[in-house]
Amino acid sequence: MDYIALENAHTSGFYRKQPIVLVRGEGARVWDIEGREYIDCTSGHGVANVGHANPYVAEAIARQASRLITCSEIFYNDVRAELLATLARISPPGLKRAFLCNSGTEAVEGALKIARLITGRKNFVAAMRSFHGRTFGALSATWRREYREPFEPLVPGFSFVPFNNLEAMEKAVNKETAGVILEVVQGEGGVIPGKGEYLRGVQDICRRNGALFILDEVQTGFGRTGKMFACEHYGLEPDLMCVAKGLGGGVPFGAVMIHEKLGEMPKRLHGSTFGGNPLACAAALAAIRYLEEHELPGRAAELGDYFLGRLRQINSPLIREVRGLGLMVGVELKKEAAPYLEALAAKGVLALFAGPTVIRFLPPLVITREELDKVAEAVEEVLS
Ligand SMILES: *Cc1c(COP(=O)(O)O)cnc(C)c1O
Repeated sequence: MDYIALENAHTSGFYRKQPIVLVRGEGARVWDIEGREYIDCTSGHGVANVGHANPYVAEAIARQASRLITCSEIFYNDVRAELLATLARISPPGLKRAFLCNSGTEAVEGALKIARLITGRKNFVAAMRSFHGRTFGALSATWRREYREPFEPLVPGFSFVPFNNLEAMEKAVNKETAGVILEVVQGEGGVIPGKGEYLRGVQDICRRNGALFILDEVQTGFGRTGKMFACEHYGLEPDLMCVAKGLGGGVPFGAVMIHEKLGEMPKRLHGSTFGGNPLACAAALAAIRYLEEHELPGRAAELGDYFLGRLRQINSPLIREVRGLGLMVGVELKKEAAPYLEALAAKGVLALFAGPTVIRFLPPLVITREELDKVAEAVEEVLS
């Protein structure tokens, strides 16, 4: 069966795909239909933090599937209650409530709606090079013009300021600002870490103006950057924190963590049919238990430093900069990254774009040092 032709005939066409048919995974490895093995530094776009076919997650899904898959939030549920308590325990201080949904963009929509609801204000400030998702609200907070323009008019009230520039933020935020939304490390925009001083300064500007400080940790959450959440690196206390990608151990899941000082949300003003379904909750509980028992955030910090060091030793005139935090790593080239991604795949290493010139590595946090050595060797061969 030619699955590539079959998909091409019937897929939307929105995705640029590599001609590889993946059928199986284990840990940081995936296999294509011909049995070729790859080291997966995409993790399905930063999802498989606990690794592919994670035994905790697989077992939890199987067990929950034969118990109760669906139970909407008009009822209570044992697994959901446990997950809510677990999220409150592992989140930064004060984030004691959660709105559960199914994806990153939906978490961002939820946060934007909550900010307007709570403040009674309409305006938002986001950063240049930001990425917050593809639905209308999240897209309105997303910077890239190619993504936005074909779909205008978007939601009004959004303005953009340069990232890591506190002065510009100071000028943009006022008493009409409902919220400021930022990634702690910009992902799609090119793997650009926010500076601690900047992020703390933005939090302070929000507090002084009565605007909500919203962090989008969709990509940086669940151990990716070397802490459970990236904002822990800088002692931040967001009012709202969006999470998704790694949350469900591979199962679609998203959440807005809500600061307790905002209180309970008013009944029936927001919701989601699938949000908080027991299957996804069971998967998330298992993924979080695995992250904690195997200390994957610490592992990401250690291996991330090692990997950054290896990449920085590569002597190639093509490299402009190597940067990252934990196992969220970008290599910015002086040229388009596309041909190098293909060359890496030919050497058995799968990686991602982050903008046209950045190669991004988001491996499962269970990746081994030996596997990272192989990745660094492949990068060196491809770039020299
Ligand atoms: C991926 C991503 C999103 C969107 O998540 P989806 O699940 O694709 O909707 C939002 N924000 C950030 C920072 C992301 O990396």
